[in-house]
Amino acid sequence: MKLKVVTPDRVVLETEDVEAVYAQTVDGDVGILPRHIPMVTPLAIDVLRFVKQGQKEQIAIMGGILRTNGKEVSVLADAAELATEIDLVRAQQAKERAEARLRQLNSTVDEGRAKLAMTRALTRIRLKQTKP
Ligand code: ATP
Repeated sequence: MKLKVVTPDRVVLETEDVEAVYAQTVDGDVGILPRHIPMVTPLAIDVLRFVKQGQKEQIAIMGGILRTNGKEVSVLADAAELATEIDLVRAQQAKERAEARLRQLNSTVDEGRAKLAMTRALTRIRLKQTKP
């Protein structure tokens, strides 16, 4: 299959010969193999895993939409990064900021926004620290 990950800024990944894609949708895990039934589904903020020529690879996806027709898998996301692109210190700082906001919840803090920022930071940290 072909796998393409696009954000408003750039094409983050475009690759062929992908044997399987494993993603976290808002309703749970999905595994996509060639000839998967056509599908469009919203994605959770999480690490997307895929297998290319027998090699496991990963990419962090900050939510978005996944579409497949069984030959191609495309993801449209607000942001996405390969492990090599992630700045770990920046992600740790984002996590600390989110933690501080969630600790001192008051009327000026948008709890939902802080939780999303926390999930993005934790996803980036996890991808940076785990092998595929
Ligand atoms: P921050 O508060 O550090 O900006 P964020 O979660 O609010 O983090 P996003 O809005 O998800 O950031 O992303 C904004 C842009 O910055 C995107 O292009 C994203 O790929 C990039 N980005 C965010 N955090 C990192 C990081 N730790 N390493 C590399 N790129 C990052």
